[in-house]
Amino acid sequence: SLSDSPRGVAVFGSTGSIGRNALEVIRASRGRLRAVAISAHHRLDRLEEQAQELAPRFVIATDPQAAAEHAWSGLPKNTELLVGPEALERVAADAEVDTVLAAIVGSAGLHSTLAALRAKKRVALANKETLVMAGPLVRRMLDQPTSCKNAALANGKVAELIPVDSEHSAIFQSLGCGKGSEVERIVLTASGGPFRTWSREQLAQVTIDEALAHPTWDMGPKITIDSATMMNKALEVIEARWLFDLPVEKIGVVIHPQSTIHSMVEYVDGSIVAQLGPPDMRLPIQYALDYPQRLPGPAEKLDWTRRHHLDFEPADFDRFPALELGFQCAGAGGTSGAVLNAANEAAVQSFLEGELHFTEIVPACRSILEAHDHDANPTLDQLVELDRWAREEIHTWVCA
Ligand code: NAD
Ligand code: MG
Repeated sequence: SLSDSPRGVAVFGSTGSIGRNALEVIRASRGRLRAVAISAHHRLDRLEEQAQELAPRFVIATDPQAAAEHAWSGLPKNTELLVGPEALERVAADAEVDTVLAAIVGSAGLHSTLAALRAKKRVALANKETLVMAGPLVRRMLDQPTSCKNAALANGKVAELIPVDSEHSAIFQSLGCGKGSEVERIVLTASGGPFRTWSREQLAQVTIDEALAHPTWDMGPKITIDSATMMNKALEVIEARWLFDLPVEKIGVVIHPQSTIHSMVEYVDGSIVAQLGPPDMRLPIQYALDYPQRLPGPAEKLDWTRRHHLDFEPADFDRFPALELGFQCAGAGGTSGAVLNAANEAAVQSFLEGELHFTEIVPACRSILEAHDHDANPTLDQLVELDRWAREEIHTWVCA
């Protein structure tokens, strides 16, 4: 049975959008959840403020230079400051940590996520880039398939991956304990982003500010740009492929602008099970931390006194060619996800620095994907090397 002692949570990326929402969930848990560790790369003033409030056992500043430049005048006296990315791996394996909330953005989140699984912890996974990059390696480390309410009661002693991404949380919640063979397909919903109705001509003129303004979700800059190109949905198709071990033919995408249905499972008899809720990331975060329990929490409630519309429309692969890359990489597996992910991270950064047009992000990724030597069974070292290579290639592409 579940013990009454608080669940120790390491919030990696605590100053980000997911990280701050996670701390709200922890705060509202009345001691059920405890922040054992928090981490950030930049914004160390914010990290220190969080430490003052929560008095965690560890505070991790992953960027040594930023850490050296910060004064650290007000850390609580029982809080230990650790510096550098290796500290994440050490803390992930600490005995006081039951769950690692992986909320670092990008492939920078890979090693700490793997370290947590190696140490037989629960990983509440927001960092989808880890699965895109190294899905097969991550799968092999799991003691529990991410599918149903099975043994999850071992209380922190099994390597398990519980999704925080709202679509994957919805699918996880809608899967129940049915047999995999009963699933006809899963359908990921997509808001369509800020440019859902824009023409090709309009898309060619998108500015940085327009791309940073998402209609339904308030998120960090990288995933906000990914939502605008729909690369986010492409990454989520790959994430779903590995998380639920489904062939790409069983994964679909539908546009649903209201973001009320977070995703669905269609069964072989034609019945569809969906999960609904307000667009509030505190819901899937809390679900992943408390799973398999459901408890009252700080998330908004859907207002049933209001009129609601639920609209669906097919995704447009012509205006949003990122989608095709996602399905391709989910099918090809091997090294393709790592290359797509790194190319995209570098291309998004170039776009945010004004070096690349919005509509060049996906063609740049495609050309690097096509240039790489595909390997169906890569090692971790190979993936890390490809991650570096693809970033360099984007740099060359931008300068050409
Ligand atoms: P964010 O940019 O708001 O926060 C990122 C966090 O990671 C910050 O704490 C930052 O200090 C830290 N970080 C940045 N670079 C780092 C590095 N090199 N090494 C270590 N730490 C680093 O991002 P976010 O929107 O909170 O997203 C975090 C992750 O969650 C992403 O993988 C994203 O795809 C995923 N996600 C986010 C949302 C959302 O609503 N924001 C929804 C679903 C999934
Ligand atoms: Mg999502």
